[in-house]
Amino acid sequence: MTPWIDAHNHLHQIAGSEAVTDLAGLARPVLCVVNGTRESDWQEVVDFVGLHPGMRMAFGWHPWFLHEQTQGWETRLREILLRFPEASLGEIGVDAWKQGTPNLKEQRTVLRTQLRLAADLDRPVTVHGLKAWQALLEILIETQPGPPATLVHAFGGPVEMVPHLVRLNGWVSFNPYFLHSRKSAQLATFDAVPLERLLIETDAPSMGPPVELAEWTLPGGRTGHPANVALAYRAMATRRGIPEVEFVEIIAGNFARCFGQARDSQAGSSPSIISSSAPAASNPNTPVT
Ligand SMILES: [Zn+2]
Repeated sequence: MTPWIDAHNHLHQIAGSEAVTDLAGLARPVLCVVNGTRESDWQEVVDFVGLHPGMRMAFGWHPWFLHEQTQGWETRLREILLRFPEASLGEIGVDAWKQGTPNLKEQRTVLRTQLRLAADLDRPVTVHGLKAWQALLEILIETQPGPPATLVHAFGGPVEMVPHLVRLNGWVSFNPYFLHSRKSAQLATFDAVPLERLLIETDAPSMGPPVELAEWTLPGGRTGHPANVALAYRAMATRRGIPEVEFVEIIAGNFARCFGQARDSQAGSSPSIISSSAPAASNPNTPVT
C-alpha cells in the first residue's frame, strides 16, 4: 500500500515513545525523513532508522545549534553522508526568529557550506527559513548550481517566492500547523505551489495542528504527534479537490522525484515498518525544532 510520507520530522527525538508506535496502527504505513539537527544527534537518527527500516536519514546543522559546532564539522558531516549514501542533508537553513541564534551572516556562511556539500555529493537538502525567507532565497540563488533537490520545509514566506523556489529545484512541504486560523495567509500560499512540487510533513515532535483539529496528541497535550500526518494529507487533498487516494499517489511520486528512489539503498524493502515490538531507545527529552 502506498504510504503516507512525512517528508520532514525529528522522530529520533521521541524514539521509543508511544507516539512512534501509534504509527503502526494507522490505515496506511508512514514513511518519514528523520532529520538530525546537530552533530550530537546524528547517531540517534542512525539508531532510529536502524529500528525502522524504510525510513530515511538526514543529517545537518540546524541554525539553532550552530553554537555547538567545533572545528572540523564540515569533514565529519561529509563523512557521515558518505557512510550513508541514501541520506539527505537536513535540517539546515537560516532563522531570524529564535533568540540566541547566531547572526544571519554567520548562518549564511554555514548554510552555503552545507549546500555546496550537498551539491558536491548530489544529495537533496531540507531547509528551514523561519522569518528569514528572503535570505534563504538569496543563498539558494548564490549557490547555484545547487543540490539536486531542495525541500523547503513548513514554508511560511510570501507567495511571490514560490515560483523562484520551484525554479531552483524546490519542493514545498505543507505542515498541519498552517491550519491554525491565524495562519490562513500561509495556508493560502500553498494553493500557489504546483501540485507536482508539493509534499506533506509534520515536523514531529515540533509544530503540529491546532488542538481542536488534532487527532493525536503527545503527552502534555502538544499536537506535534507524527500520526497527524493523516490529517495533513486529508486537509490538503480537500483543499486541492483531489480524492485522497489519488492525492496519496501524487505525493508519493513527488517524494520519489525530490528524494530519489535510486539513492535509497533500501529500495525494494517495504516502507515504514513501524513495529510495536521495536525496542525503546533512550533519548526522551531532546529539544524540538
Ligand atoms: Zn524540523
